[in-house]
Amino acid sequence: MNISHDVIIVGSGAAGLYAAYWSSTKADVAVLSKLFPTRSHTGAAQGGIGAALANEEEDKPLWHWFDTIKGGDYLGDQDAQKVLCYDAPETIYELEHLGVPFSRTPEGRIAQRPFGGHTRNFGERAVRRACYAADRTGHVILHTLYEQCVKQNVHFYSEFQVLDIILNEDKTKCTGVIAYDMLSGEVHTVSAKVVVFATGGSCKNYATTSNCQANTGDAFGILLRAGLPLEDMEFVQFHPTGLAGLGILITEGARGEGGFLTNADGERFMERYAPTVKDLAPRDMIAQCIYKEVLEGRGINRTGRICSEDYVYINLMHLGKEELQKKLPEISDFATTYLGIKPWEEPVPIMPTAHYIMGGIPTDVNGRVKRNAQGDIIEGLYAAGECACVSVHGANRLGTNSLLDLVVFGRRVGLHVAKNVDQIDYGQVPTLAAQATEQCIADLKQSTGTERHGAIHEDLANVMMEKASVRRTEESLTECRDALLELRQRFNNVGIDDKGNVFNSDLLETLEVGYMIDFSLVQVEAALARRESRGAHLRLDGPMGEDGKQQQMPRDDANWLKHTYAYLDNDTDVRLEYGEVYLLQDHAEDGWEPELIERFKPKERKY
Ligand SMILES: Cc1cc2nc3c(=O)[nH]c(=O)nc-3n(C[C@H](O)[C@H](O)[C@H](O)COP(=O)(O)OP(=O)(O)OC[C@H]3O[C@@H](n4cnc5c(N)ncnc54)[C@H](O)[C@@H]3O)c2cc1C
Repeated sequence: MNISHDVIIVGSGAAGLYAAYWSSTKADVAVLSKLFPTRSHTGAAQGGIGAALANEEEDKPLWHWFDTIKGGDYLGDQDAQKVLCYDAPETIYELEHLGVPFSRTPEGRIAQRPFGGHTRNFGERAVRRACYAADRTGHVILHTLYEQCVKQNVHFYSEFQVLDIILNEDKTKCTGVIAYDMLSGEVHTVSAKVVVFATGGSCKNYATTSNCQANTGDAFGILLRAGLPLEDMEFVQFHPTGLAGLGILITEGARGEGGFLTNADGERFMERYAPTVKDLAPRDMIAQCIYKEVLEGRGINRTGRICSEDYVYINLMHLGKEELQKKLPEISDFATTYLGIKPWEEPVPIMPTAHYIMGGIPTDVNGRVKRNAQGDIIEGLYAAGECACVSVHGANRLGTNSLLDLVVFGRRVGLHVAKNVDQIDYGQVPTLAAQATEQCIADLKQSTGTERHGAIHEDLANVMMEKASVRRTEESLTECRDALLELRQRFNNVGIDDKGNVFNSDLLETLEVGYMIDFSLVQVEAALARRESRGAHLRLDGPMGEDGKQQQMPRDDANWLKHTYAYLDNDTDVRLEYGEVYLLQDHAEDGWEPELIERFKPKERKY
């Protein structure tokens, strides 16, 4: 079947739905999603969405901008980061008017809580910037946007999985996608003037993760195979507080409400590492500190190893049952259900969990996809949300800035599409556009291969966790790359047991594992090349220190203050290019004020 709409949005998280909402004011819009829309991972977001809403005395977008730059260890594009923080208040109010039921202060204003790395007056102290609806903030945003899209007659193709993109010969224009209908097993050619990828995160390639089953980074694999680059993929965020052994998230809102971490000595160890903001330091720092505590024998079980038996505690008892059930009901439930621990009675065991990908599909501030490090645009192709790299998060995202990224840039994509869609033509879609996908599915069904996706996925996730997670060295990354190349070989011998057409998850999960091998290779090669520590990318194989011990690599602005653009050639060869980071100091021609330029120059990050 051939499907055609002016605008096709791939993914129905908050980013995709906000883009759909605004573009549907001017165009015929359809959303394709491999899940039912309200099952998207946005619905799992707990703690809050950042915006400087308060009066000028208490908070302002300027301070939010500064925190975002510093939090990202100076790798974010400062002009894009400005858009994120200055668009924030009006976007939050728009969401409120669309019906998002935020929690309220006694005066009836939108309630806000502190979050890691968010400060008042350039680091003076923590500030209340995270707007929230209890610990179900993503859930209420997702449902509200879905209702608004239904009201606007956006067409939904649920349980349609996109497997390929249609580009013209020289990759300057996108004319559609190839989608698989899970219910019937049919492959459809979908043509459009505009395609928006909003496919979310990708952390299912790590063994311990907070991400849902659907976060397999399909778009990353699809675009890499089409010869397009991904940006800054070496930067993967580990959230400090996953339930130990499980990875299920305990929101940073728990620390925002006064929760704190302790080691085996009962010490509040973050006071040692970040004396000003302590347990509200950014995530990269806290995750690295937890690993250090455990490796130095101060994990609760004093194993001295990163293993399933060791962890540190988050303490919430002092908040009391009533407060916990009112402000953090979901995480109270998680601790009780999954660990049998009532957080008002006992501390909760936690360890870092793979949470978020800072890198992704390179875009400009209106979500238009770039096809190289020089910034050339692909006509008719946009990306928004976690799968996109605008880049506002640099080397480490601050908590609450992802939901904000989804709504600010999802909305901007929608507005930009609404304004321009009339000037865009439907491009040529080759008659045989779906042939390669159909062949690939037929081959898999006929394959006599003895490998299975489950075993390959497990080995992939374990090796990524062990060798390319919080702590990295040339040795660990090289071993990881070699293991991935072996997995690629094994994948060539994969077969499936279900040969049917109806809800064939065996087939789809096999294809997803293929995408995960693709972008994991890119993540590891980019990490191997980047010989410095910055944000979430910690390289331990630095020079020898005076104490005869190997130091971590320092941040190296002279050589590495640049964006990675990675391509994948012939399934296995990663090719790297580098692009400029937009710093105010390099763009005096844009009229930035001298004090701002001085303020935002890269410096050492201390909290
Ligand atoms: C447990 C948890 C808690 C979080 N809490 C917060 C928080 O408090 N604050 C914050 O700022 N951030 C938080 N985050 C991060 C934030 O929630 C995510 O970054 C964000 O929800 C991603 O939204 P998205 O719209 O980009 O994609 P998602 O909401 O992940 O949706 C992706 C969509 O793409 C579709 N899709 C994917 N692949 C395909 C394909 N091949 N074909 C068709 N459809 C496809 C899926 O069906 C889905 O609809 C949290 C994340 C997690 C995991």
